[in-house]
Amino acid sequence: MSCEVCGGVPAGPVLLQSASSRILWWNHRKVNADLCGYCAERVYFDQQSRTLIQGWWGPLSALATIWFSIANFVRISEHRRFITTVENDGLQTSRPRAKITGNPVALVVSAIALFIIASLAVTVLNAPTPASESNPTSFNSTCWENTGGNSLKQVSCDSDSASYETYQVVSDPSLCADLYLEAGTQYACLQEKFG
Ligand SMILES: [Zn+2]
Repeated sequence: MSCEVCGGVPAGPVLLQSASSRILWWNHRKVNADLCGYCAERVYFDQQSRTLIQGWWGPLSALATIWFSIANFVRISEHRRFITTVENDGLQTSRPRAKITGNPVALVVSAIALFIIASLAVTVLNAPTPASESNPTSFNSTCWENTGGNSLKQVSCDSDSASYETYQVVSDPSLCADLYLEAGTQYACLQEKFG
């Protein structure tokens, strides 16, 4: 078996893939061939570099990037185990190894992409949850009397002493225009009651 690209021996089968993002879709390139050590290393370096630079920029493509970059590494490692030498001026010498660390652009771009993905994940996980039925709503439309200082006492809304009423229950007190009451884990906004 000789290399399908350069005719060198020994050669063996290897599958190396790349992903590159497009605006709505992504491109998948695949080399599935019998290659010698030189050509396999060159294709590995090219496919891995393209994937790590161009692959991150879409949701499907980013998943393919994670999968291909791991799969390519596993497959080139297998190929290295089977094809240990390369032909060099008619002599068999030990096989060179391409390292992706030889492409700093791929490493920097991947670090940036992973940082963005991690930031998005944190943003999604920390997104405020909408108020659900289980949240306390018993503070809605209640009336309160100012008993002096900072203390309030709940009173009937028909009472003449009712000076404040609640108008909404929110998760963040800064959403209240002015005063608020703690209502369980939430806050009830207060407004002055007229009449
Ligand atoms: Zn070759």
